[in-house]
Amino acid sequence: MANITVTTSDGGQRQVEVGSPAIDVLKRAGGHNRQVLAAKVNGRIVDLSSEISEDCTLAPVSVDSSEGLDVLRHSTAHLMAQAVKRLFPDVQITIGPTIADGFYYDFKRDQPFTPEDLSKIEEVMREIVTANYPIRREEIPRAAAIDLFQSMGEHYKVEILEGIAEDTVSLYRQGEFVDLCRGPHVPSTGSIKTFKLTSIAGAYWRGDERNEMLQRIYGTAWPSTKELDAYLKRIEEAKQRDHRRLGPALDLFSLHPIAPGSPFFHPKGAVVYNSLIQYIRSLYGRYGYTEVITPLIFKTELWQTSGHYEAFRNDMFLMKVEEEEYGVKPMNCPGHCYLFATRKHSYRDLPVRYADFSRLHRFERSGTLAGLTRVRSMVQDDAHIYCTPAQLDGELEHFIAMTREVYGVFGFDRIEVTLQTRPEKFLGRMELWDAAEAALRRVLEQAGYPVTVLPGEGAFYGPKIGFDFRDVLERSWTLATIQIDCAMPERFGLKYVTPEGTDAVPVMLHRAVLGSLERFIAILIEHTAGKLPLWLAPVQVRVLTLTERQDSYGRGVTDRLLQAGFRAELDNRNEKLGLKIRESQLEKVPYMLVVGDKEAESGMVAPRSRSGETSAPLPLDAFIERLKDEAVPGKFS
Ligand SMILES: [Zn+2]
Ligand SMILES: [Zn+2]
Repeated sequence: MANITVTTSDGGQRQVEVGSPAIDVLKRAGGHNRQVLAAKVNGRIVDLSSEISEDCTLAPVSVDSSEGLDVLRHSTAHLMAQAVKRLFPDVQITIGPTIADGFYYDFKRDQPFTPEDLSKIEEVMREIVTANYPIRREEIPRAAAIDLFQSMGEHYKVEILEGIAEDTVSLYRQGEFVDLCRGPHVPSTGSIKTFKLTSIAGAYWRGDERNEMLQRIYGTAWPSTKELDAYLKRIEEAKQRDHRRLGPALDLFSLHPIAPGSPFFHPKGAVVYNSLIQYIRSLYGRYGYTEVITPLIFKTELWQTSGHYEAFRNDMFLMKVEEEEYGVKPMNCPGHCYLFATRKHSYRDLPVRYADFSRLHRFERSGTLAGLTRVRSMVQDDAHIYCTPAQLDGELEHFIAMTREVYGVFGFDRIEVTLQTRPEKFLGRMELWDAAEAALRRVLEQAGYPVTVLPGEGAFYGPKIGFDFRDVLERSWTLATIQIDCAMPERFGLKYVTPEGTDAVPVMLHRAVLGSLERFIAILIEHTAGKLPLWLAPVQVRVLTLTERQDSYGRGVTDRLLQAGFRAELDNRNEKLGLKIRESQLEKVPYMLVVGDKEAESGMVAPRSRSGETSAPLPLDAFIERLKDEAVPGKFS
């Protein structure tokens, strides 16, 4: 038989027979420490059993790589579906993809799954693992696959098959179970060691709310029990910190069906919201921004000019007014272009930096809305910069400096930067895109950040950099972003006069540091577990009386704090001190001042922090001085 040359990951080359299974070649190459689940042939991940038919590079895909985890988790989804079919034969299976840290599978079943069902399913999954069925790939004509799934009563699979263009499709079999799948999969059910089913949710078929509701079972799989346990601990911690739970519990915000995806900020939430805006506003003078106020509703002509109408129309709230179509703005940029064009600009006036805290509305589908992280109504610390090409690098550096300062204030120190480049569908000239991407690379390199390039993920009008912050739960969030616009200035006919007296098109930048305030508040709540720094805490100090004898002293202390500009409250209820302290701790109030007879007589206060530290009684004035010191952005208590 003819030989082919296989180059293994150690650089070695070996001759193997055509048709050798990848696993045999990998075994001969040796040197893999952790469980190998699949193979990478010429960069494509395939089953270990797949046969090598041409000269290629070959690498193992081990369980601890992200690709290996993906194969493991998707195989666990099949395993779960097999167990579900054994327990509930009338269930129809649909799709079972992987997600971050796990997988799900959507099932059609009339009765709802219960938490007890999950344990039963896990038990059957373990039986199937013990049975160690080989997992076999099979390629058959699409028509035959349709007949097969039709005969099994799997109508969703039939519907998927009917939408596939290829004439041949692949199936994966393990024991009595068969699924339509591209693969790859682990070699046998015994390769799956550690898994857990985590939750049940409703999901529409194909994610469309007009379709029937399915039941989604989420699960996770890991290389070892140790890694699984660490993950489960992390999701338990995430549940405790979930802003959708903490936000309402701390009386910060609520959501109501009357305005889906549009949060109501309660008085305490509004304090946090406005303090953030006030903080960003306080930087604008120093960083050379000027604030503007622009309309919420525009004729759609504006969105046609900007290009949003074509690219973003389905995500906008549109309406007919006096026979004309209007749209509620999803972003501020087109309005700012209009503003820029109201006067003639010389190169001497540039850069122009317009900042705008205007409310924006985006039509996110009801099924995708989530707490404060996916909303329809939001405010960004948004700004647009118009500058000359020669000023571009300086403006990018200027933005990075401001981002560094703001992240420093919040203690966000684990930062990764992403560069998102030209997508397939884009506006503007190619050479502008190339120059813009080059500028972003240049400035990031100088700033010394490690950069991950995400090809094709830029906005339709320009490339983008994102500053991702990793929170205490190891989750990554993009907060600050800056985008160079390769389309809008030309579309709006913007210009400035050059030193030579000619007209030129300005460079336009879109940027935000906190991003959407709604989302930022969600992230901050989860990152701090609701223990907001003193400068953001809705109630900064609560005065707790021991008995009603301290009523007037307590009131006096509270008034003094209010006079000094702090958010203070008096708790003079006829309740035990222990209960008052517990409640304040639950509300994450940074300081409690306990006042008893001794304090009332001596004009002192006894501070107690929310973490339970107490300090010796001190004069109220001294405490106020301490607070003034601490209640500034950047200080943590
Ligand atoms: Zn599959
Ligand atoms: Zn913009």
